[in-house]
Amino acid sequence: MAIIVLDPGHGGSAKLGGSSPNNAVSRPRGILEKQLTLDVARRAKARLQAAGHAVWLTRNTDVNVALADRAALAARKRADIFVSIHFNGWTNATAQGTETFSWPGSPSRSERLARAVLAEAVKATGYANRGAKTETFGVLDPSRHLAITAACLVELSFITAPAEDARLDDAVYLQRLGEAVAAGCEDYLAAQFPRPTVRRVEDGVTARTGG
Ligand SMILES: [Zn+2]
Repeated sequence: MAIIVLDPGHGGSAKLGGSSPNNAVSRPRGILEKQLTLDVARRAKARLQAAGHAVWLTRNTDVNVALADRAALAARKRADIFVSIHFNGWTNATAQGTETFSWPGSPSRSERLARAVLAEAVKATGYANRGAKTETFGVLDPSRHLAITAACLVELSFITAPAEDARLDDAVYLQRLGEAVAAGCEDYLAAQFPRPTVRRVEDGVTARTGG
């Protein structure tokens, strides 16, 4: 069991502590990134809780939360994982792809998490892999996180592309995105904390060894 904090990007109606209320707006329908980040985070949370993890969201409603406070929740919970969930936007409607970020020079566990989440997210969106990159996003600032916490930010897709806009009210697709975030966390955990090897002892009972 791991402790996981998921951060639905943006929220509310006013800028707060470096967090903008919304960034990307889908085209042509005008769906707001902040609604999608909360929807996907809830789906990821449900999947991770079902797998036995302790999961918190930095917000449960349409409110904004300062970037430092989003990270502080992860520190307060002594989280193993912090994932900030976002969708991208660009003026050029042909821009598309999936990417993740960790803080430049952050602990390697954050880079590993970013790569694990990216691999699953790309499978879910089917879009181009734009890479696991580094960026100084305030929610990832290592000075705001415990050393034990792997922290990354995912930009699932560009909702300014009309083809993506058309998928955004498909609950099956949104569920797939949520499950991809969850699977990325689990892939990271599996690599970080290998399961004890199981060996068969002479009386036929299996015993767990190693750590
Ligand atoms: Zn965003």
